[in-house]
Amino acid sequence: MVESLKHDIVIVGSGLAGLRAAIEAARVSGGKADIAIVTKLQAMRSHSISAEGGTAAVLYPELGDSLESHAFDTVKGSDYLADQDAVDRFVSLMPQEIYQLEHWGMPWSRREDGRIAQRNFGGYSYPRATFAEDKVGFFEMQTLYDTATKYDNITFYQEWFATSILAEGGQFMGITAIERKTGNFAAILGKAGIMATGGSGRLYSFATYAYSSTPDGMAIAYRAGIPLKDMEFIQFHPSGLIPSGILITEAVRGEGGLLLNKDGDRFMKKYAPEKLELASRDVVSRGMMTEIEEGRGFKDEKTGLDYLNLDFAPIGAEKIKSRLSGIREIAIKFKGIDPIEKPLPVRPVCHYVMGGIDTNIDGATRLKGLWAAGEAACVSINGANRLGANSTSECLVWGKITGAEAAKYVEGKSTPQPSNETIMIEAGRIFDGIFHGRGGTNPYEVRDKLQRLMAKNVFVFRTGEGLSEALKGIRELKKEEYLHCEDKSRIYNTNLSDVLELEGMLLVAEVVVSCALARTESRGAHSRRDFPKRDDKNWLKHTLAYQKDAGPALEYSPVTVTRYKPMERHY
Ligand SMILES: Cc1cc2nc3c(=O)[nH]c(=O)nc-3n(C[C@H](O)[C@H](O)[C@H](O)COP(=O)(O)OP(=O)(O)OC[C@H]3O[C@@H](n4cnc5c(N)ncnc54)[C@H](O)[C@@H]3O)c2cc1C
Repeated sequence: MVESLKHDIVIVGSGLAGLRAAIEAARVSGGKADIAIVTKLQAMRSHSISAEGGTAAVLYPELGDSLESHAFDTVKGSDYLADQDAVDRFVSLMPQEIYQLEHWGMPWSRREDGRIAQRNFGGYSYPRATFAEDKVGFFEMQTLYDTATKYDNITFYQEWFATSILAEGGQFMGITAIERKTGNFAAILGKAGIMATGGSGRLYSFATYAYSSTPDGMAIAYRAGIPLKDMEFIQFHPSGLIPSGILITEAVRGEGGLLLNKDGDRFMKKYAPEKLELASRDVVSRGMMTEIEEGRGFKDEKTGLDYLNLDFAPIGAEKIKSRLSGIREIAIKFKGIDPIEKPLPVRPVCHYVMGGIDTNIDGATRLKGLWAAGEAACVSINGANRLGANSTSECLVWGKITGAEAAKYVEGKSTPQPSNETIMIEAGRIFDGIFHGRGGTNPYEVRDKLQRLMAKNVFVFRTGEGLSEALKGIRELKKEEYLHCEDKSRIYNTNLSDVLELEGMLLVAEVVVSCALARTESRGAHSRRDFPKRDDKNWLKHTLAYQKDAGPALEYSPVTVTRYKPMERHY
C-alpha cells in the first residue's frame, strides 16, 4: 500500500520561484491553505542560491529609467519572440518585488546616498540590475526561506524526489515522490500544484548550473501530456570560467570588464559597435565563438579548451573587492588567478533555458489545477534570448502570481483521490522498471555520451547536419539498456535518482533537438549556420512539443505582439 499525504497546494521546487509561490499562497489564503513544498535537495541548496549579478527592476524613473524601457529591452533581447502582454505585466510588477524583499530583510547593496544600488547588464538601456554584492541569489533565497518558515501552514518535504504528476480526467490530483532518506515511495495529493523545478542546463557538461539542474520537472509535465514550449532556445553565457564552467557574472562587464582576444583586441566592437561587451548574451557569445573559430582565441594547454580573456583592470581593485568579492574568491580558489592582477580565461557556457512547461500569462498549464513558475516554465517573457537579471525577477513575479492563483483555486474544493491504479502504474515504472531493472549499459556512460552530443551539435552555432546527428544519437541512447540500478539500498540511493534524472534528460534532449531541427531560421540563441537570417514571415511563433510514442509532435502558437513590431536588432 502506497502512503498518501494530503495538502491543499503541492509546490515542487524550493528555489526562488517555489518559495515565492508558497509565501504568496500562504498570504492570500490568510494562513488557511495547507501548502507542501517538495524539493529533491535541502531547500537552501536549490540552484537559485548561485545567482550572482542582479535582479532587474525599474526603481529610478526620475533618473531616466521607465517600464517601457525595461519592456522594450526585454522584447528586443528576446529577438521579438517574447509575448509582449506578459512582458508588460512582468516589468510593472517587478519594482514592488524589490521593496517587498527589502521589507522581508533583503540586504540590497546601497548607493552613496543610501538608496538601493543598481548596476548595468547586457542589453539594457539603463543600469537596472538590483544587487547584493555578487551574491544576489544567496541573499534572496535566505530572505524568502526565512519568510516561508514563519508560516505554520507551509510544510517542507526536503530531499523528496518527485517522479510524476497524478492526474485523471484532465485534473491535477497530486504527485508521486520518493523520500531519499528512506527510499519510501508516496503519493502527495493536492487540489492544486505548482511546478517550480528550475532549468535543465545539465544536458551539458560545461554548464554554470548545479549538478541537480536536470529537467525532471519538464519531463514529468511532458509525460503528463503538457506541451513544452520553445525548447530550442538555450542560452550560452559568454563567461564560463575554464575548465569548470563556473559562472563569471555579467556584472563584471557591467562594472567595466573587457573581453579581449589573443591580439589584445577588444573584438566586440566588430559585432556590437554600440553596446560592445554589454550586448545581449546571444550576440556576445556568437562574437566570442567567431573569434575562437577564426583563430584569435587562446588554447588551454591542459584541457585543449579554447578561450578568450576577461580583463578586470578597468574596474579597479577597490570595486572588485567591494562589489565582486565572490567572483574574486571563485577565481582564486578554482583557477589560481586573482583577477585584480590577471585576466580570467572564459568561454561561452550553457547557462539558461528560455523554453519550459507551456503556461498562459497567469502561469497556468493546460492541466486543470496545475501551474508552473520560474525557469521550469515558459510564460514567455524571454523568447529566444533572456536578458541577464530578468530570471530571478521572473521567479519572483510568477512565483507570486501562481501562488495567488493556486490559493484562490483551492478555496472550497475537496482533495481529489486518484485511483490506486494510477499510483501503482508509477510505482511499477520505478521499482519494477528501474530499481529491479536489468540491462548491460552503464547509465553514467549514457549521460556522458548525451552531454558530448549536445556540446558538439547543439551549441552556439548549429546546422541541420549537426542537429540530425544529435537526434539520431539521442534516439540510439534512448534504446540502450540503461534503465537499471546497481545499488539496491533504500537509503539515499543516488544511483536510482541519477537514472531517473537521466531518463528525463534523454526525453527533454530529444525535444530540444527536434524543435531546433524544425526551426529553419536564426533567432536569438538559436543560430543556424544553414539558415542565418531571422524569418518573421514563417517563424514568428512559439514551438509546442507534445509527447508521442514516435517522439515529440510539434505544433506552433502565435506570439503576442502589442507595441513593439519586430525590427532588426542592433547593439
Ligand atoms: C551561476 C548562475 C548565476 C545566475 N545569476 C543570475 C542573476 O544574477 N540574475 C538572474 O536573474 N538570474 C541568474 N541566473 C539564473 C537564475 O538563477 C535561475 O534561472 C533561477 O534561480 C531559477 O530558479 P527556479 O526557482 O526556477 O529554480 P531552481 O532554483 O533551479 O530550483 C529548482 C528546484 O526544483 C527542485 N527540483 C527539481 N527537480 C525535482 C524533483 N524531481 N523533485 C523534487 N524537487 C525537484 C530542486 O530541488 C530545487 O529546489 C543565474 C544562473 C546561474 C546558473
